[in-house]
Amino acid sequence: MSTLDVRPIPAFKDNYIWLLAVPGEPRAVAVIDPGAADPVLRELAAGKLRLDAILLTHHHADHVGGTAALVAATGAAVFGPAQERMPVECQRLHGGDRAHLPSLGLEFEVIDVPGHTAGHIAYFGHQALFCGDTLFSAGCGRLFEGTAGQMLASLEALAALPDPTRVFCGHEYTVANLRFAMAVEADNQEIADYARQAGTLRAAGLPTLPSIIGLEKRVNPFLRCRLDNIRSSAERHAGKALPSPVAVFAEVRGWKDQF
Ligand code: ZN
Ligand code: FE
Repeated sequence: MSTLDVRPIPAFKDNYIWLLAVPGEPRAVAVIDPGAADPVLRELAAGKLRLDAILLTHHHADHVGGTAALVAATGAAVFGPAQERMPVECQRLHGGDRAHLPSLGLEFEVIDVPGHTAGHIAYFGHQALFCGDTLFSAGCGRLFEGTAGQMLASLEALAALPDPTRVFCGHEYTVANLRFAMAVEADNQEIADYARQAGTLRAAGLPTLPSIIGLEKRVNPFLRCRLDNIRSSAERHAGKALPSPVAVFAEVRGWKDQF
């Protein structure tokens, strides 16, 4: 099993462009969701790296905006969701497809995760998940194009991945998400512990990511909508009974939007 070397390239206010390399081929790299080209080009020049592939999760500009300039500068192969408009020609991927990066010896499985956008995809392989704006640490993306039912199903598909899977999200939202998670679930000690740890990392200018799936299942309210204590908390907030996990999820998502 090849070990991935994954590094964040910060962009804009809180985006991460993830840079992938493998030990055997240290010069060849891939990036996920390059919203901007300049920080990637600087990283390539500084490390004398060759950009071979660009993986895109969804069509938002803060995730795809640097793609055309990077392709022009490097000729990198581009992979993107089949159902969304992409800024350049690319290999269009559906759920169940595989993205092959032959020069890196890597292969990722594509998972359909509609909700934040209608055609959003995630890439899973080598014990790593690149999930764009679907799953955040202790949170999830806003519902811009999909329904609560779609987003809940997408999140549950990601939660079903093996517990040690490293989770590389598109944004650094962890501290704010944990503040909300504590409001939903005040008696969850692990959320409070993680919040302290995440605050320390951010104060030192370090990323809180990657997370891991096992941890997310214990602290992320959006992955816990089937639990009685989350349902009770959401029902208290709604002031009415919430008869299904989708109704609980929709209430918690709406609560977070106003938080
Ligand atoms: Zn987005
Ligand atoms: Fe985004």
